[in-house]
Amino acid sequence: MTLLKSYIDGRWVLPVSGRARMDVINPATEETVAEIAICEADDVDLAVMAARRAFADFGLTTYAERKVLVQKLIAIFERRYDEMVKAITTEMGAPFDLSHGSQAACGPGHLDATLQAADALDWERKMGSSANLILEPVGVCVLITPWNWPINQLAAKIGPALTAGCTIVLKPSEVSPLSAQLFAEFIDEAGFPAGVFNMVHGTGASVGNALTSHPEVDMVSFTGSTKAGIMVAKSAADTVKRVSQELGGKSPNIVFADSDLEAAIERGVRHCFNNSGQSCNAPTRMLVEASVYERVVEIAAKVAATVTLGDPMQPGPHLGPVVSKVQFDKIQHLIQVGIDEGARVVAGGVGKPAGFERGYYVKPTIFADVTNQMTIAREEVFGPVLCLIPFADTDEAIAIANDTPYGLAAYVQCADKDKARSVARRIRAGSVHLNGAGQDYCSPFGGFKQSGNGREWGEFGLHDFIEYKSVNGFYA
Ligand code: NAD
Repeated sequence: MTLLKSYIDGRWVLPVSGRARMDVINPATEETVAEIAICEADDVDLAVMAARRAFADFGLTTYAERKVLVQKLIAIFERRYDEMVKAITTEMGAPFDLSHGSQAACGPGHLDATLQAADALDWERKMGSSANLILEPVGVCVLITPWNWPINQLAAKIGPALTAGCTIVLKPSEVSPLSAQLFAEFIDEAGFPAGVFNMVHGTGASVGNALTSHPEVDMVSFTGSTKAGIMVAKSAADTVKRVSQELGGKSPNIVFADSDLEAAIERGVRHCFNNSGQSCNAPTRMLVEASVYERVVEIAAKVAATVTLGDPMQPGPHLGPVVSKVQFDKIQHLIQVGIDEGARVVAGGVGKPAGFERGYYVKPTIFADVTNQMTIAREEVFGPVLCLIPFADTDEAIAIANDTPYGLAAYVQCADKDKARSVARRIRAGSVHLNGAGQDYCSPFGGFKQSGNGREWGEFGLHDFIEYKSVNGFYA
């Protein structure tokens, strides 16, 4: 059994005092594939102090020097790409096509977009009559990531942090440590100086507070649930750290009657089910204009009937399992709550799908006649579960879309482009997607309201890791 070590000050290490181990479970087979050695506060202290020491030099390097290292990292990632695809599929069950085409691709994708943004940045410029504006790294950054798009989240933080000249203590999700381990190997091989990048394995309970309250940490960049994000912000507040939060979502997908219904509904259902519904920006609330509502219910049920499940190691369009038993149980509970609260099941439902007794497979489920007050319309299910909610007119669609504590993403399906654009302006969300448009690595990603603070990806992701210093009298 592989025992995954942490990486501190350029060396692979076991925890100083902690003896706890945690299994890494392949959700498709329920088999243990590795173990992590769980760190505690004393390990965090070693990692933070290594990052602090390394910052003294790395924080003064030029962007040109750092760019060479990040370019090496991209080349190593591309050379070892297939290992990363396998690691992601093994640890969290994303099917091969998704791991290969999207999940792993986020690694080089974000690193490259960060360098493009950094190339275009004025790292120093004159301001007013005599001041020099200098862009400097924030300092020692703690990066905490979830399991659902593991490399996306790692690369969207590590790329800009290193490019800006920050030093890092990463705590990847304890549920998905295989991809993080590999990423750490890539960084080691790229030749970053010891202490610039450190990684501690552990849980929120074992290292969370030690990381987020440490006085030598300047910034915490957190992606995960809103509940944990609130705890992180509170813990970081006493030492006035910069805190960036990428949290949950319950994103609306507004379908107007004039849209190409067959295409829009197929796209919406498949997008909601993609990654087995485990995406923070998944379009989980489909709001449908009343005049076409029953037709949309029929189309959605027809599409759901074509969605297949399968072995995630095999290529093909099928869905894999959800990540864990905990997640499986939570999803089953919420499907049952949907039924109990009176929503109509038009596809899927509770229980394991036939032929998938082993593995954490969930029936792709669609509920019709959902009201926006039902639990399944308000809480993140984080499984392949779609709610269909009717609306009477544009004002009501926007009111329902915005009636959520979240504001991460929104989707609009509408043939009238002016109307689509005007609806986009009225939605309180960080990303709005019109008629199936995707998100480019260079555009900002992040949330309004309780979906978070700050922006990741490209230029705006880089700014999160930069301090702005004005040296007045510099040109006097
Ligand atoms: P989670 O909040 O349980 O865990 C996320 C990370 O935080 C893990 O590494 C975990 O160990 C750590 N953690 C937990 N409690 C902590 C604490 N008190 N202090 C410090 N660290 C702590 O979330 P998850 O189940 O891993 O991921 C799913 C959640 O992430 C969903 O809510 C999803 O919407 C959200 N998410 C958001 C985005 C985004 O960009 N907005 C992207 C992906 C996932």
